[in-house]
Order: sequence, then C-alpha cells, then structure tokens
Amino acid sequence: MKSIPPDNLPDFFNSLSATFEVRLPIELPDGTRTLGNPGDGPIALHGGALPGKPTAAFFPQQGPVFTVAGGFVAEAPSPPRPLFVAGFTPRDLDCLRFIDRFFAEGWHDDIYFSRRRGALVAGVSGRCGPGGALLPPAGGDCDLEMVWDGCRWLIVPYSEAGLAITSELPDSAPSNALDQIRQASEALPDEEGTLIRRASRLLRADRVPDSFWAEIGERCIACTACNLACPTCTCFGVQDWRYAERVERSRMWDSCQLDGFMREASGHNPLGTEALRTRRRIHHKLAADPERWGEISCFRCGRCDAVCPTGIGIFAVAREMVDRFGSGG
Ligand code: SF4
Ligand code: SF4
Repeated sequence: MKSIPPDNLPDFFNSLSATFEVRLPIELPDGTRTLGNPGDGPIALHGGALPGKPTAAFFPQQGPVFTVAGGFVAEAPSPPRPLFVAGFTPRDLDCLRFIDRFFAEGWHDDIYFSRRRGALVAGVSGRCGPGGALLPPAGGDCDLEMVWDGCRWLIVPYSEAGLAITSELPDSAPSNALDQIRQASEALPDEEGTLIRRASRLLRADRVPDSFWAEIGERCIACTACNLACPTCTCFGVQDWRYAERVERSRMWDSCQLDGFMREASGHNPLGTEALRTRRRIHHKLAADPERWGEISCFRCGRCDAVCPTGIGIFAVAREMVDRFGSGG
C-alpha cells in the first residue's frame, strides 16, 4: 500500500504535470472550491463533491466543434497532453461511467473522446467529505483512488496506468485503516438512494398526476443551474461564431428548463410549459433513462438540490412525490 502525507501532495501532482494536463480541486481566494490547475490555489481535496461538476473536464460548458478558414475545415484540437483529473467522489465516478456510455454507444462522440481517451481519473474518498464525513470508497471506476484515513492519503491503484504513476511513491507502514473505512462504509444508510428508487418506481408506474408537475413547475425560474450542475446532463446546442478570418462552430451546454430547448422551427414546442419541462428533467433521470440504459441516471451527487434557488432539486421533488403518492410499491 502506498500513501501520501498531506504535505507531499503538491510534489505528487507537480510530478504528474510533466506528462499530463493536471486538473485537481483547488481553493479560490473566496474559500470556494473548483477544479483548477496546480498552482492556481491551495489543493482542496477535502469537502466532498465540488460545486461544479468534474465531468466538465471532458465535456466543457463550451468548446469548439470545428473551424473554417480559407475554405478549409479544421477539427477541434485535442488537449496537447492527456488529462489527469482528480477530485471525483465515488458518486461522481458513477456519473462519469454513465456519460462515458452515453457518448460511446450508438453515436460515438469524437469530441468527448478526444479529451477522455488516455485521460487518468483519480477518485477521492474516505474521511474527507463535508465536515469530515465518510465517503465510501468507490472500489473502481477510476485509475486510482485517494482514500483519506484521517492523517494521510492511502493510494489504491485500479488500472495499469494508475499503478505506473504511483509506483515511485514510498510504501506506507502496514495498517488496517483501509479495511476500517470499508467496514464503516458498509454500515452507512443510503436514504437518498432509497428515496430516488421509490420516486423512480412511482414515475414508471405513472402514479404522478400532471397537476403535481404544474405545481412544481410554477416554482421554476428557468435559471438552468440544475442542468449546469448535473454531471449526467449531456444536452448541448451549437453556435457559429464569425471572426475576421474564420468561423468557429462551438457547442455549449443546453438546459431542458429553457423554453427554447425543444421548440421547433414551426413554432410548435413539445415542452411548452414549465410543468412539462420540469416533469421531463425528473422523468428523464428516473424513468426514461432506466428504460434506455438500464439504470437511473441520477447518482445522488446532490448538486441540483444545492444550487436550485427555489428548492426543486431532484431530492426535494422525489421527497414530495413519495410523501404525496406513496413509495411506488
Ligand atoms: S443529484 Fe441532481 S445533479 Fe446530481 S446526478 Fe442527480 S440529478 Fe444530477
Ligand atoms: S435550478 Fe431550480 S429554478 Fe433553476 S432551472 Fe433548475 S429547477 Fe428551475
């Protein structure tokens, strides 16, 4: 077992910078945490899920699709070096696994994979959640996991690449800290998971009336924060930008909470009310995606509930559904 004392973290990440474009949680001057470059601020692995989704490293809010200049089309450039992205909580890793499938199956998204292919992902777990809360280790779905045992980062490689970049780290003294963390994790309740599964059953049994969505939709101010924060939201629009010498086609995140999201050229809008748009946001994760992908696509990262200014993130809506319409059997 390898481990890294907290004081040695900067050296570890700096050593990777020669080979990778490193992105890791850092603390900004105002105390918030974000995904940044080494040197942008103090390393901030503690605190649980970052406010911004770490999947944005591979699917950024805005990015080029192609450029046209002098009659020639140039594809979007790939990162000059492979990405190394640290800071995924175990639930974020579930989200990443899901969107990897989404962008790979059926229609293969070359732009996504130009950033994702060859990238290394480091999960973060252990006693480093909000206020020191325990984040159960993921046990996979990443190249290496950094597990905080209370005084050092235990390093668990899962892939050959993860093994290679940690091979030079010193071996740590034998300890059962990782086993203790795993055992403590097994005893944790999964109330959010139970709630989300119950709400999913209700929706799939069609036991939630339209009047509920009219009521919930009334509370939406279409700020789009829920979609922008969600690691499994993958909708985007395209926009052409004209410069003096070139035209660049970009894509940027879209939001199903916006009136124009599905509006057609004829003016017809299949999602023409807040009620329909709000229903779609929740129904998509809890009912449509289980049909399409075989799993609920909300992995309970908590971001949409944290950012929604009117209190209709997915946990809040699921709780209201279950309270009013039952547990779904
Ligand atoms: S909790 Fe909200 S933001 Fe997180 S995965 Fe579920 S729907 Fe997306
Ligand atoms: S964050 Fe809340 S208010 Fe904003 S678009 Fe989403 S549901 Fe509506």
